[in-house]
Amino acid sequence: MYLYNSATHKKETFTTHTPGHVEMYTCGPTVYHYAHIGNLRSYIMEDVLEKFLRYEGWDVHRVMNITDVGHLASDADTGEDKMLKGAKREHKSVMEIAKFYTDAFFADCEKLNIKTPDVVEPATDCIGEYIKIVSGLIDKGYAYLAGGNVYFDTSKLGRYYIFNDHDEEDLAVGVREGVEEDTNKRNKNDFVLWFTKSKFEDQALKWDSPWGVGYPGWHIECTGISLKHNGEYLDIHCGGIDNAFPHHTNEIAQSEAYLGHPWCKQWFHVHHLNTNSGKMSKSKGEFLTVSLLEEKGYDPLAYRLFCLQSHYRKSLVFTWENLDNAQGTYQKLIRRVAALKDGGGAVDQEVVGQYKEKFIQQVGNDLNTSMGVTALYDVLKAKANDETKLAILRDFDQVLGLSLLEKAAALREKEAAQTASTGEGGFTITGEGDPAIDALVLQRAQAKKAKNFAEADRIRDELKAQGIEVTDTKDGAVWKRI
Ligand SMILES: [Zn+2]
Repeated sequence: MYLYNSATHKKETFTTHTPGHVEMYTCGPTVYHYAHIGNLRSYIMEDVLEKFLRYEGWDVHRVMNITDVGHLASDADTGEDKMLKGAKREHKSVMEIAKFYTDAFFADCEKLNIKTPDVVEPATDCIGEYIKIVSGLIDKGYAYLAGGNVYFDTSKLGRYYIFNDHDEEDLAVGVREGVEEDTNKRNKNDFVLWFTKSKFEDQALKWDSPWGVGYPGWHIECTGISLKHNGEYLDIHCGGIDNAFPHHTNEIAQSEAYLGHPWCKQWFHVHHLNTNSGKMSKSKGEFLTVSLLEEKGYDPLAYRLFCLQSHYRKSLVFTWENLDNAQGTYQKLIRRVAALKDGGGAVDQEVVGQYKEKFIQQVGNDLNTSMGVTALYDVLKAKANDETKLAILRDFDQVLGLSLLEKAAALREKEAAQTASTGEGGFTITGEGDPAIDALVLQRAQAKKAKNFAEADRIRDELKAQGIEVTDTKDGAVWKRI
């Protein structure tokens, strides 16, 4: 596959340290709140990347951290710990908050068909790793103690790597609005590896260390977890573009200084999801979560399709109108797949092979997911029998993760169940084909016919208590679950 590498700023052939094997690392969520759909865009695109690599035949080992300590409200090592902030807001302990929002994150992932990485490691489980690395960095002269904290000394590096998307001058900590300069730092880009002197007294999680009781900085966590599970050579590191600086920049600095050799070969950054008023964030505007989309009647997979329709290296603008379009497209797509009939005919393997080859070529060109979606329509229009089309769609969906065949089967079942069942006296009941409910609906109709309105109302209430809403139409009664 060809993939844009944000470390070299060009599209390259994807290669790995060990042929055929991929060590992949993803920056996971900071679990102090629900993930918003902008965060989830990154996880969707990283999921497609992992699935495509597997589809192409790579053996992928993917690791993700869960940030449950040390990520300060400002990336410049200042401000309050986001976890502690969440705990205060909800009057819970930090660990309760972490557990709750970790579960919520994976529930969202499941709804979006995002596979759980092979290894998921909470930051608080690897304190020993960080202490080992920070000690190593001090021994090698890359870190210093000041004001009780341990800092990484960026002046000791041959180069302090900055991704292309950022201008180093703009990042001078002291000039960033609202950021207080840390006077312990020897150089503006130095960062904290280990805190013992926190500006806030009530840091909930603290551990013993050679430098005093404290807690790790945010950046060291990804280096520690990746070295523990991916080994010394990382093939691809993924994250949102907002992590490029300072988080990934600092990961490179400390990892390469510690290891003494190049660390990660490829960097994969997913760009922002914007609203009309700018970058989506938790702090401004409507807080868009998967649950909110569901409440508004959207299928989370329509949002996944919305993300797949555009390239991961372009900002994507979210509006309700855009999501409506994606939902409409998704429903029509499912309807077309549902119309294909598996009559037990032979799958034409030659045609499958041709389409597969084209799909690998197109999606393999810097993860061009919109071409992957277009490929689905090419299959639907293909001159091939339905069995062959279904086989190709099933195959492509291993990468795209749109549950096409499952949703199509569910649609067919629903429609079959909704075909009207005719009760006594020609009274038509339309619902989900539940005989017990149909019987009650019929009883209600009979009560009404006999002008026993009290009984009819009683049955309506009984149905309502079961979560069933009945609507009378000129052709009979229609019921649905509410
Ligand atoms: Zn990270």
